[in-house]
Amino acid sequence: MKPRGRNQHQGKVILVGAGPGAPDLIAIRGADTLSRAEVVIYDYLVSPELLRLAPPNAELIYAGKKGGSRMAIEQSELNSMLIAHARKGRRVVRLKGGDPFIFGRGGEEAEALARAKVKFEIVPGVTSAIAGPAFAGIPLTHREHGSFVAFVTGHEDERKGESSKIPWKQLAAAAKDRGTIVILMATARMRATLARLSDAGLPAETPAAAVEWATTAAQRTILATLGTLADACERERVGAPAVLVVGECAGLREHLKWAEKMPLFGRTIVVTRARASSSDFAADLRRLGAEVIEMPTIEKAPPKSFAPLDKAIAHLDSFDWIIFTSASGVESFIERLKSLRRDIRDLGDASIAAIGPATAARLADYALRVDAVPDEYRAEAIISAIGARQIRGKRFLIPRAEVAREVLPETLREKGAKIVVVAPAYRTVKPKRAQVERMRELIASGAIDLVTFTSSSTVTNFCELIGASAKGLKAAAIGPITAATARERGFQVAVSPDEFTIPALTEAIREFFTRASPRRA
Ligand code: SAH
Repeated sequence: MKPRGRNQHQGKVILVGAGPGAPDLIAIRGADTLSRAEVVIYDYLVSPELLRLAPPNAELIYAGKKGGSRMAIEQSELNSMLIAHARKGRRVVRLKGGDPFIFGRGGEEAEALARAKVKFEIVPGVTSAIAGPAFAGIPLTHREHGSFVAFVTGHEDERKGESSKIPWKQLAAAAKDRGTIVILMATARMRATLARLSDAGLPAETPAAAVEWATTAAQRTILATLGTLADACERERVGAPAVLVVGECAGLREHLKWAEKMPLFGRTIVVTRARASSSDFAADLRRLGAEVIEMPTIEKAPPKSFAPLDKAIAHLDSFDWIIFTSASGVESFIERLKSLRRDIRDLGDASIAAIGPATAARLADYALRVDAVPDEYRAEAIISAIGARQIRGKRFLIPRAEVAREVLPETLREKGAKIVVVAPAYRTVKPKRAQVERMRELIASGAIDLVTFTSSSTVTNFCELIGASAKGLKAAAIGPITAATARERGFQVAVSPDEFTIPALTEAIREFFTRASPRRA
């Protein structure tokens, strides 16, 4: 055991690079640090998806752009805030876009902390200066085309009316001789910045590219030349955030363009299922190139009463069959079993049925083999999987969500089951920290290409959370019942797979967008 140090109550500030935009481009250490934060102070360009990694009780403070001004908070005020929170003994994560020490004033924040004798650490991130070109298919160095790189600001601090401190002449000479120049904060003064390079002698035909909103669904790349890039960007209305790449290497994009070829490139897809079960689905969609927004619309909570389940658990040996209708049902049932200090062996001779492969897989996690899984993943189909002759005179337990469809218990009773006990094992509730405002804005701006639903309650909760009409929004529904609920709510159900599983849904989404016309060049 470590002795209790005197510094135990001293907080610290960790400057964490959030990466360029795509939330899965944060470093593993950054994600780990975020998951243990007590306070998170984050910027405008940080992906809101990353905030989910913070503990539910962490305080989240937005320090980014507000309205027209660059910052919601002045830098000096921000520095004092970092110091004040740390002095209260808290673990403060200062989450900054890209890398904390590449522009964006991370250096100044660290200096302020050092002066105040507040402990700090730095977790590097993937800077947009590297990720932007990478996602555009532009290597910054290359044995034949680029031997060195310079990261340059296109937004010099000219408060004092001084002339530029950037050695444009040398940069121009460098870019002419196998050097690559990457310019950040480049859009507002793009024409003037590029002119400085040509005035300093860099030939107009030097390849030059702009990458806007790199690594997100809004990513666009314009490949032109030093002489034509400003006009091309004006025509295409390229805005911030964007990085510029000037030098021979930029031309390599012609052959190395790759991101645009991913099946879901440029698509923004909303995943509405519960957070615990959504990660694989979200990760699959991201792997296909989509930008995924996770908006869990359901969270698991204990049922209003455990009495029916506890009673059933006390007499587990009296059931012939236990039917699980969701992976959450399995988890909640096992959790309850444990908290009642019972044992998995108490299941005794009862046969086990699962409604589908995901439920069967969760049972397998507890080394429980299922005796019946229907070919078709619906409540109705489970009857034939068990076998009609197995039902008459038999006793059934169904641990499941508090509110669920009655088809299964009713059918079992019709087929002559002796006892059917429906025991609520959990309840689905609407999550508290849903990013409702952000979702409304995204819907209003037409940024959402598809909303995915894995049950009727995800549809209902989504609509109730955003409190707006779903008219015109495209939906992907896992099965016919979910699809019907989505249609009722005004969605246009564009994707609905033949098999009611997440892999089949993912594949159907891929096919849908492959057939659809490409969104961006
Ligand atoms: N520390 C950050 C840079 C902060 S300065 C980093 O390492 O990336 C902000 C500038 O970064 C923007 O003006 C833009 O030039 C660039 N930038 C940030 N995110 C970007 C993105 N997703 N695509 C293109 N440029 C981006």
